[in-house]
Amino acid sequence: MTAYDTNNIFAKILRGELPCSKVYEDEHVFAFLDIMPRVPGHTLVIPKAPARNILDIKPDDYAHVARGAHKIAAAAMKAFNADGITIQQFNEPAGGQVVFHLHMHVMPRHDGVAMLP
Ligand code: 5GP
Repeated sequence: MTAYDTNNIFAKILRGELPCSKVYEDEHVFAFLDIMPRVPGHTLVIPKAPARNILDIKPDDYAHVARGAHKIAAAAMKAFNADGITIQQFNEPAGGQVVFHLHMHVMPRHDGVAMLP
């Protein structure tokens, strides 16, 4: 597997070198709005620890990301008056990953409303 690239877009967002719409931050995770949202409120939760994807991250760091997604899911249900939540997390190009800093997509959903592809 390719090594973690410290110049990936999300690493730059974490370092404050690129702008983002921040949703949440704690000691372990950072969350911000996706630049091309598939639904309103589409949020990305990332670890502060450098990790390319699930194949590269320590279990405890992955647990921090899952906890962050859990928190964002609950907040998004309220903020968007949602009927459900979709969570996705892609790994390596074959798994659909495009940006190589681990991230979970948290997407508020509404009955009868499709996500953009
Ligand atoms: P994935 O790697 O999970 O397939 O997709 C990467 C996600 O990152 C996409 O949903 C894309 O819209 C989002 N993304 C790519 N570049 C940026 C960026 O510069 N800022 C933000 N906020 N999101 C981005």
